[in-house]
Amino acid sequence: MVRGDVQAISTSTSAIGRSIALSRYEDMISLDFSISFRRSARMAIVSFPLRDCPNCHGATTFGNVDVYGSSVLLGCGRCRHTERIPLPQIRKSKLYLDQSFLSLVFKGEDDRFLTVAERIKSLCAKQALVVPYSNIHEDETHQWRRHRELLDFIKATARGHEVVPTYNVIQDQFDRALDLWLTQQDPIFPIDKWVAFEREIDDWEGYYRIDVGGYYGDVEKIRAAKIESISGLVETFDNWRNGSETVDEQIDLELASAARGYLNAYYTFVERLAAGDYDVLLSGPINAQYVERLIRHRALGETVDERVQSAIRFLHSSHFAAMPAQSISARIYAALREQVRRGAYANKEKAIDRLSGFFFDVNHISVYAPYFDAMIVDRSMHELLRTDTVDLTGRWGTRLFSASNLEELEAWLTEIEDAIPSEQIEALPVAYPRLKLK
Ligand SMILES: [Zn+2]
Repeated sequence: MVRGDVQAISTSTSAIGRSIALSRYEDMISLDFSISFRRSARMAIVSFPLRDCPNCHGATTFGNVDVYGSSVLLGCGRCRHTERIPLPQIRKSKLYLDQSFLSLVFKGEDDRFLTVAERIKSLCAKQALVVPYSNIHEDETHQWRRHRELLDFIKATARGHEVVPTYNVIQDQFDRALDLWLTQQDPIFPIDKWVAFEREIDDWEGYYRIDVGGYYGDVEKIRAAKIESISGLVETFDNWRNGSETVDEQIDLELASAARGYLNAYYTFVERLAAGDYDVLLSGPINAQYVERLIRHRALGETVDERVQSAIRFLHSSHFAAMPAQSISARIYAALREQVRRGAYANKEKAIDRLSGFFFDVNHISVYAPYFDAMIVDRSMHELLRTDTVDLTGRWGTRLFSASNLEELEAWLTEIEDAIPSEQIEALPVAYPRLKLK
């Protein structure tokens, strides 16, 4: 019942609250220009007064107002004259950082990572890379000594870009899988990168963005859930050591267990509803909702009974198994079992300690990996992801980095830097006059 535990965690994180604030990129705009939000005023709010206005000849009243996707808007602070300068099309690489990278940098655990963090920041400012924000950056990071620097780093690299919640991505995969299953097509999933991100990533960034961050989850509750579920996982290690299943059989077992987890969540949902517990409609487990949505699908049968039976068949189909999130997480657990069978994690206490956060990581990686060009994860996760069983890079093309192949990460960043087209380099000072290019 490994997967059931995972979902208990993901449901609790979905209730995390957040604060939203508007702020500017400090590396793009010098803060000595005070900008007032005179919405009703007819004049443009000029972020960079650069030169005299060609229309009213006001002295240094004309300059950049903002960047909108694919152009820079210039305006005058005195008259209504505006101009637009088009910007070249760009394509940004998408990098996923897990908490281990942040802890290496911002707890000061490895100096080499500081340099890497600086390069990441610089490539983001050059519009060549983006590190979309995800709530894995939360929870424990509040207590880190260099928390302010951490927040600055996140703001400078995420630039308001965020991954959509895991359940939206999973729902999208459920919908596609069901559609392919109903129309008897092969379970092949094209990866549409937009599925995982809140908004268009390949746009030039504006001067203002909605701040992400300021999340406040129930840290204690999340931590307690983590420890509880990891203990459960470590308890199953004894069975794993004595089991005789092949890797493929283990993957099937993991998928069947996931299917059971979804169905059980649904049955519990129905029982609570039948008992008059209407809170379940608002705060029920997200896993029940995927099944509930399946069962509302007319194409699955005339009666509810028929539809439940069809849903069960679907959850045991190759289409369900091919959903990227299901496929990746089942393989990660199967690869972990292989490690355990070879003698890893023999000490239970140490195992619990080393695997803390494991469910979170599996949950996020299995959902988001296919949508990213690269991921930086911790060493033990890296080991799992590059096994033949998971083969994340081979199957999904996602490059993997950790402390164990730092040189490869540096080479990848150089590759990105070298691939920035010259027209993009030339457009950077036009779009961001204060940006210092290194
Ligand atoms: Zn003017």
